[in-house]
Amino acid sequence: MNPPDHTPLLVIGAGPGGYTAAFMAADLKIDVTLVDIKPNPGGICLFEGCIPTKALLHAVKIIADTKAAQDIGIEFKELYADPPKINRFKDDVVKKLTSGLGQLAKMRQIRYIRGRAEFLNSSSVKISSEDGSGQELSFDQAIIATGSQSVHLPFEPPSDLILDSTTALNIQEIPKTLLIVGGGYIGLEFATIYSELGCHVTVAEMLPQLLPQADHDLVAILQKRLELNLAGLHTATSVREIKGTAKGLSVKLEDKDGNIRNEGYEKILMAVGRKPLTQGLNLEKTSVELTPNGFIKVNDQRRTSDPKIYAIGDVAGQPMLAHKAAHEARVAARVIAGQDTAFHPSAIPSVIYTNPEMAWCGLTETEAKEKSRDIKTLKFPWMASGRAVTLNRTEGLTKLIVDAQDGKLLGMGIIGESAGEMIAEGLLAMQLGATARDIMHTIHPHPTLSETIMEAAEIYLGQSTHIFRRQK
Ligand code: NAD
Repeated sequence: MNPPDHTPLLVIGAGPGGYTAAFMAADLKIDVTLVDIKPNPGGICLFEGCIPTKALLHAVKIIADTKAAQDIGIEFKELYADPPKINRFKDDVVKKLTSGLGQLAKMRQIRYIRGRAEFLNSSSVKISSEDGSGQELSFDQAIIATGSQSVHLPFEPPSDLILDSTTALNIQEIPKTLLIVGGGYIGLEFATIYSELGCHVTVAEMLPQLLPQADHDLVAILQKRLELNLAGLHTATSVREIKGTAKGLSVKLEDKDGNIRNEGYEKILMAVGRKPLTQGLNLEKTSVELTPNGFIKVNDQRRTSDPKIYAIGDVAGQPMLAHKAAHEARVAARVIAGQDTAFHPSAIPSVIYTNPEMAWCGLTETEAKEKSRDIKTLKFPWMASGRAVTLNRTEGLTKLIVDAQDGKLLGMGIIGESAGEMIAEGLLAMQLGATARDIMHTIHPHPTLSETIMEAAEIYLGQSTHIFRRQK
């Protein structure tokens, strides 16, 4: 063990939260040490999450578009997808981006230590490397950005045939049948990937609706589309038992009426949520406190109950999304640099990269009703969008939730091609306190899908150009 060393700021975990905090702190002239077990910054998002899945989703979107091209007179005689090559493309994307982050850390003169950190007390850690060596490091301030880990069901037997969101990224061999347990973000993105690669995918979601956080009308459009590609999509269905068999895995599925059926699958992907990763940090040696759900308790400046320690990202509360972590990271770094700032976002977007994509931000219609808010819901179906018709993708829907009195935008939901890109307009509008009138008076380029936002806003005053509503 080397003698203790010192750093003004220690950042533990180099995902989108940790590396953003480290980069910003370095830009603010703070001397930073960033610790992670991976060879480069990136974390789960870049190595095993957001980025590799999006590379795979891009590849399978090409397959889907190629098949759909038949409908508009373009036929490819033979469609051949090569999973090992697609896998290499995904790995190259990850390598490119993570080594780029490594370079950016070096250029900022951030000290990057590869290893696992555990607290010795409120001002020092021990960092253990994979080769068994270790070093002690004392710090003035620390940011915990260790992220989250997959949840497993208690009755899961140990088996290579049971995948999680990390092992499912290896698409070298596509199983004939796959059961995905959980109809949330991970479940539906992987259902899109595996079904396009020729696997018979079944999804079992415990709750009555897929993506329970989103509005039903948006989810219904996604579900209809997914059902065309999937072998089965069961809501209100729970997995009760999983057993290994000679042929693969046998599962007991229970529906909402308590009926149990047995089904056999070659593989199962567990996508039943993630939990904060505090295990192994030795937080009991500090004054950091946890919430009943196991998140690190933080205030709006991302300070924990320990005056020297901050926490950001998945480990510090819902929603577990990379862009929320990065935003908290900038707040924590600025606070540490002595600036007076806090984390009060006007909205945090959610995007699910299925085909079509779905995105929403701010208040949903369901939440508005639960809170008895006086709102107007403005919906523009994409059948009436010229751009959607030219793309042959008219299944989409754009909806705005606005305050019934002053028309202020409170939330936006979009299902359809490129919804993830389009939602940014809703976020900016909310950040600036825009109303339906402001959006409607903003000239949107024609023909684009973004016009659906402008036309939805027009409905606030009763009509929109491409939808006719009889005057009352
Ligand atoms: P999730 O919470 O989105 O979905 C898990 C689903 O599993 C829920 O709908 C839940 O009802 C269901 N479920 C739980 N137990 C079950 C059971 N026994 N049987 C059947 N269904 C069951 O979680 P996730 O999809 O695992 O994703 C984890 C986190 O990762 C999320 O918090 C998400 O924010 C993040 N993520 C985001 C993206 C993105 O932004 N596009 C993509 C992937 C993951």
